[in-house]
Formats: sequence, C-alpha cells, structure tokens
Amino acid sequence: MTQHVVRTRIGQLATIAALALLGGNAWAGSGHSHSRHNDAAHVHGAGELEVVLDGNGLFISLYSPLENVLGFEHSPKTDAEKVKARRVKSLLQANGMFAFSPEAQCKRTSYKLYSDVLNPHSHGPGDDHKHHASEDGHADFRAAYEFECAEPAKLKVIDVRVFRQFSGFEKIEVQALFPTGQIGVSLTPKQSTLVVQ
Ligand SMILES: [Zn+2]
Repeated sequence: MTQHVVRTRIGQLATIAALALLGGNAWAGSGHSHSRHNDAAHVHGAGELEVVLDGNGLFISLYSPLENVLGFEHSPKTDAEKVKARRVKSLLQANGMFAFSPEAQCKRTSYKLYSDVLNPHSHGPGDDHKHHASEDGHADFRAAYEFECAEPAKLKVIDVRVFRQFSGFEKIEVQALFPTGQIGVSLTPKQSTLVVQ
C-alpha cells in the first residue's frame, strides 16, 4: 500500500492542479483524471479520493478496485452476483457516501459511475478506455460526484462514509484542493473525516 501511494502522488498533484485550472469540469467529461489512475497499482482494500472545492462547486472522485465494493471484479453472472451488483450501484449512487457540514448546504448536482462491470458502456467518445477490465481479471471503477454548496466557506468537514457503506475499504488516500491550499491525508474506517483547512 505504501508503494501505491508513492507511485500515484505525483500524478495526483498534477491532476488536481490541472483540474483547478479547468474549474473541475474535466471530471464531468472524460479522459483527464482516470488515465493517470491507471498507472497506479491495483491494491485491494485501498482507494483514492480526489476532492476539489472551487467556488460553490465541490467535486469528488472515488477510484477503487471493484473488489472493495463488490467482492469480485468480473461481470456478474450468477443471480447472486447480479443482485450484489445492483445493490452496490444503488449504494454508490445514494446520498450516503459523503456527509458535509450542514451549514455549507451542499446539494448533489451530478453523479457518474465509470465501470465496465457495473455500468457497461459508461465511456464517452473521447475516453481512453484504459479502465476497462484488465487482462489479469482485475477491474477498477471511478465514481464521480459533483455538489453545489450555497455556503462553501462553511464547509469544515467532509465525512467519508464510504467506509461505512463498504467494509472492503481499509484505507483511502485523499488529495484535496481547497481555496486555502492542498492537502493529502490517509483515511481509515476509524479516521474517516476530512477536515477542510
Ligand atoms: Zn483486483
């Protein structure tokens, strides 16, 4: 896991800097951030979170091996696997993944799931298709969330409830860009709160 962090750090910083220049809109499109991610190691139990607060916009992308949420990484075949896949999709899409300081009044405006297994054909025309299931049978996904915060200055904490929703996460490396600066932290099930500094 340590190796994973070291290998992805530089790419993440570059991605976040680029996103800041673009106002974060790249996340709604395709190709920009996940091409970086696919250079990273695929480590079961580990996830990555990119957070950018820009004006009223709050952009959060979760990158993870499918194993962490699904328990397998192939296309669901049995009825049990199909049920599990449906449940995982609704959990990812529901509002339980993140909780914000209520005073900030953040409302979700967009959600997109990029996964060949959970959401086939989720690629845009300009996509690099690099996050297709790999030949060794492993597969990642990206869940991209956008929020609009009426009072972004009052956003003090982001509780990452991903751990609560999915027990497969042991650690999530966070790279966050706030108006006051950039931070990188490791979150765990016991320490799941990202403090906005
Ligand atoms: Zn895997």
